[in-house]
Amino acid sequence: MADKKINVEGKEKKGMGLSTKIFLALIIGALLGVVLHYFMPESLADFRDKYIVEGVFYVVGQGFIRLMQMLVVPLVFCSLVCGSMAIGDTKTLGKVGVKTIVFYIFTTALAVTIALSVAYLINPGIGLDMDSIQRSEVSSANTETKLTETLLNIIPKNPIGAMASGDMLPIIVFALFVGIMLAKLGSKASTVATFFSQFNDVMMEMTMAIMKIAPIGVFCLIARTFANLGFSAFQPMLKYMGSVVLALMLQCFVIYQILLFVFTRLNPLKFIKKFLPVMGFAFSTATSNATIPMSIDTLDKKMGVSKRISSFTIPLGATINMDGTSIMQGVAVVFIAQAYGIDLTIGNLATVVLTATIASIGTAGVPSVGLVTLAMVLNSVGLPTEGIALIMGIDRILDMIRTAVNITGDAVCTTIVAKQEAALDKEVFNEG
Ligand code: ASP
Repeated sequence: MADKKINVEGKEKKGMGLSTKIFLALIIGALLGVVLHYFMPESLADFRDKYIVEGVFYVVGQGFIRLMQMLVVPLVFCSLVCGSMAIGDTKTLGKVGVKTIVFYIFTTALAVTIALSVAYLINPGIGLDMDSIQRSEVSSANTETKLTETLLNIIPKNPIGAMASGDMLPIIVFALFVGIMLAKLGSKASTVATFFSQFNDVMMEMTMAIMKIAPIGVFCLIARTFANLGFSAFQPMLKYMGSVVLALMLQCFVIYQILLFVFTRLNPLKFIKKFLPVMGFAFSTATSNATIPMSIDTLDKKMGVSKRISSFTIPLGATINMDGTSIMQGVAVVFIAQAYGIDLTIGNLATVVLTATIASIGTAGVPSVGLVTLAMVLNSVGLPTEGIALIMGIDRILDMIRTAVNITGDAVCTTIVAKQEAALDKEVFNEG
């Protein structure tokens, strides 16, 4: 994970950026879908349904999703191996390392819980009847498996078998194990470690290559949804976006600020004011990795946080701490479950908190990866990954907002740890 490509948006500087293309595809696709739904002459209805909506739109849209799905197992596996290797390394850093990791994991689990609560308050997926337009068989959340079996199944009898069938929890357990052992072996296993980190880079490149055709995929997916459902699709989509944004705001401006105040007694408003430009940068690039230098610099110059702490905690956070991403995933799980009419049990929700927290470790700090690791969260509770099609079209804007939250979480934790380690200059923080 250490040397991920960071200049993703940089490649898009010439001509229209990818975000703009995706937005345009989204709007034009939705409009075309509505036109096809309401304004097509009866005589052409058969042609529309057979060849356009369930023909071209279906094949291209699903093809795009399959390309993303293709990445899930190798990407999550390599990413987690590298992520846990990075954590394993931190033992040398002792107290600061442990404190930071505990804080990161705690805030992520809290973020998913908030996301699930907000989602169940707003019920974004109710009113969207996906079964009516779904072709492939929908697996339902398996509520009948005994708890004991579910727990035991987390340990893979055969890791390759788990990978072949895409069972995410056992894959995660195995990946974490491999990463920790690699960290333990250090230079003795450096070839294997390098292999995983390079393979991880290959997967990242592939994600970016596939994202290049995202505008076409998004166009077809959204056009098919609206052609089938008409205006009735608008409200659930808006509710989904609203739920994600609300949960993100709660996490960023309430939870983080309370934590900051409780642990440091520093002024949260000052923190927000000084950190806002970094958030803006993360928002516009949708990549945590690219904000690492700016974040460290801002914390140092404007807030008096020593680089001794931030040079370790910020890159680690950009790699393993994605609270914003896990919020999107929590809301998406509820949205997709409701859209497909599947009830989630308390056990399912606990699994979501666990897997979304782990997904946060496995999500790289570059655009759209949260959408790939969402497949793993959906898999863990038996929800159809085709559901990602529903939210893929509108994910770009949410990616930008959640990235800003992701890096704010890292900065808040860094400030708290720095204060406790006497590595924070209060005067600098309070200046200006
Ligand atoms: N874009 C996010 C980040 O860089 C990751 C994601 O949620 O896709 O933090």
